[in-house]
Amino acid sequence: MMLISLVVPVFNEQETVETFYHAARNDCFLKTKNVEIVFVNDGSSDKTAPLIGKLVEQDSNVRLINFSRNFGKEPALFCGLEHSRGDIVIPMDVDLQDPIELIETMFHEWESGAKIVLAKRADRSRDHWMKRVTANYFYKVHNALSHSKIEENVGDFRLMDRRIVDIIISLQERNLFMKGLLSWPGFEPVIVEYKRPERCAGTTKFNTLKLLNLAVEGITNFSTSPLKLASYVGFGISFLSIIYGISIILQKLLFSIDVPGYASLMTVMVFLGGVQLITIGILGEYVGRIYTEVKARPQYVIDSIKESELRGSFVNTTPDTDSNPIG
Ligand code: UDP
Ligand code: MG
Repeated sequence: MMLISLVVPVFNEQETVETFYHAARNDCFLKTKNVEIVFVNDGSSDKTAPLIGKLVEQDSNVRLINFSRNFGKEPALFCGLEHSRGDIVIPMDVDLQDPIELIETMFHEWESGAKIVLAKRADRSRDHWMKRVTANYFYKVHNALSHSKIEENVGDFRLMDRRIVDIIISLQERNLFMKGLLSWPGFEPVIVEYKRPERCAGTTKFNTLKLLNLAVEGITNFSTSPLKLASYVGFGISFLSIIYGISIILQKLLFSIDVPGYASLMTVMVFLGGVQLITIGILGEYVGRIYTEVKARPQYVIDSIKESELRGSFVNTTPDTDSNPIG
């Protein structure tokens, strides 16, 4: 029988894990299917791990992968994809903001031949206006600069065929921007729309700074256009400064006009100083990423995996660190 994998990263989610589990198990559509739930515990310090541990003992189709510390949602999601066994895989948030009811519609699209079904937020009216505006610009800038486009207002919630998942987990990069990676394999997606509800309990784990970092990660991981832009700005300014220089010389030689210096000099200096710093900053973003890629550290470290064996007993394994440090 075909298997559906729900991949769920969790970080300090003791208020939501059980609600999520019961919602998934009681869903009328999912009840009729073979569904495994892969929880990736991203270094929670609350009761998340023991709560999921109990679920593993009751339900042989639940697995728990414990990270050794908090590595972030992106590595957690990647690890979940690597450990999923389903014919189709659906990454989901645990806070029920990704509606479980939508899976039925997505599944039917997959049955009709879609390799990838994206869940798109129909409106962002519940978001703070700042988040709405910045998200809007992020998609515009990202898609203008990058070859691999990401669909606007689509998060990680999507249905992927096994083939797509295998392509994604074969990618070797260390700087992970899942939204981009999930779209990278291509294939024509089918889009289903939904209204994103509020978090069922608990609080968001993403603040403005984290989101900003994610946006920079997204653009630099999928495009080198900012580097080109820096060169173009450099060429543009050099060209303008030559024209300006010639005009000053001509004014002096032909018309004997004294060109007053201080104000214009300061403006140009400060402007150029700013442009240079921005350019160095852009270079730095890429050099930093090369640095992390070259070090090739694992994206995450698994502390233990808890799953039920087919016989009905339960195992708590520590991955063999000699053969594979990341499990
Ligand atoms: N999450 C995670 N590691 C982190 C931060 C978040 O695994 O460092 C998980 C979190 O438990 C949740 C999902 O990622 O299941 C989405 O997080 P959240 O709901 O806080 O994000 P938002 O919906 O507010 O963007
Ligand atoms: Mg959420």
